[in-house]
Amino acid sequence: MSATVTKFGGTSLADAEKFKQVAEIVRADEDRRYVVVSAPGKRFKGDFKITDMFYLCYEKAAAGENIDVLFNEITERYNEIIAGLGLDLSVDRELERIRNGMYNMTGRDYAASRGEYLNGIILASYLGYDFIDAREVIFFNNDGTFNAEYTNDVLSARLRRHERAVFPGFYGAMPNGTIKTFSRGGSDITGSIVARAANAKLYENWTDVSGFLMADPRVVEDPKVINTITYRELRELSYMGATVLHEDSIFPVQIAGIPINIKNTDRPEDRGTMIVAETPEYDTKNIITGIAGKKGFTAINISKDLMNVEIGFGRKVLSVLEKKNISFEHLPSGIDTMSVIIKSSDLSGRLDYVLNGIQQEACPDTVSIDEGIALIAVVGRAMVKSKGTAAKIFKAIAEADINVKMIDQGSDEINIIIGIEEKDYEKAVRAIYAEFVKD
Ligand code: ASP
Repeated sequence: MSATVTKFGGTSLADAEKFKQVAEIVRADEDRRYVVVSAPGKRFKGDFKITDMFYLCYEKAAAGENIDVLFNEITERYNEIIAGLGLDLSVDRELERIRNGMYNMTGRDYAASRGEYLNGIILASYLGYDFIDAREVIFFNNDGTFNAEYTNDVLSARLRRHERAVFPGFYGAMPNGTIKTFSRGGSDITGSIVARAANAKLYENWTDVSGFLMADPRVVEDPKVINTITYRELRELSYMGATVLHEDSIFPVQIAGIPINIKNTDRPEDRGTMIVAETPEYDTKNIITGIAGKKGFTAINISKDLMNVEIGFGRKVLSVLEKKNISFEHLPSGIDTMSVIIKSSDLSGRLDYVLNGIQQEACPDTVSIDEGIALIAVVGRAMVKSKGTAAKIFKAIAEADINVKMIDQGSDEINIIIGIEEKDYEKAVRAIYAEFVKD
């Protein structure tokens, strides 16, 4: 029996009306057999996400403060949803247990996970689906990493016993049974894990936008929706700051070659964005798939005569970072120069150590730093087949009177990364977008 896994984000489950929309979507296709839920999100601008309220409750309880007012607000939100759906269901016992858990310090992750847990119980009841607690089927290793293979074995066996089920997203269990969450937005990962275990034909991720946009709408006015994108392109864009889908949610479905469809709960008729392994499909008019970027990088520029023939020079430089557990983003180099691009936040409080360390280990002629760098990734699978993409990017940037500080192209030729000053970031993104997207 084929299955589609549907995951609904917090805004899609923020109140009873939204739950009804979700149920309508699920019931519209009988393959939608496994449903993964987030916690209730914001109902309006200025509202609070339940997950944030649970975090706050936990912090207040830990500080010995009274949590009654806050906890009552949480209780009310769930009770409003249950009443709005006309369900003969009470989560009072669960809520009481959670409240006690806050005082008994059952853990920050436990507290945060309860938003999805309760939402899962409610939606399962409304749909008439089974409820499967994620703590029984999603597992982490002792070091906190996700235990993918064990999870997949247990979960796929479990799914064989449930034709239709709802799962709370965002969390699983440590080997000792305590709750652990993924990072924020992690219900997307749960959806992907369930899709893999169910050998689903499709993983639908329902949210409040009609797919991935070609650029950040806060920077570019009304950017186009991306119709089709590959996992690898998406990874590049997500890593560089494009949100919508948690970046780690690609891996489980990628292993199984399951496509992801980003869909809009408010506009189910929109096609959304399809995320696939490979596709020959690309728009010949738009060679690029998307543009994303981030501010907040520092370049450490190193020069030394005859660097090109000094064996081990790069290793000596990088060993300094390794000792401090700092990862680098890019490593552009010349013949006698190299730059290491690092997130500025990773260097905070450690810059002196790194600069001194490079002096001692690699004995360069000069070391200087450039702070306030923004990186922009221009991503497109069609770049491999088309000439002149780089020329167009640099023409656009030059015409916008922006100085390029760094250039990097991945060996798979699906991205070109440029480093510029942070102050030029928005202008550069707009210029590149306008150069490639004509109508
Ligand atoms: N509720 C969690 C969060 O706010 C997880 C999720 O929504 O995916 O981060």
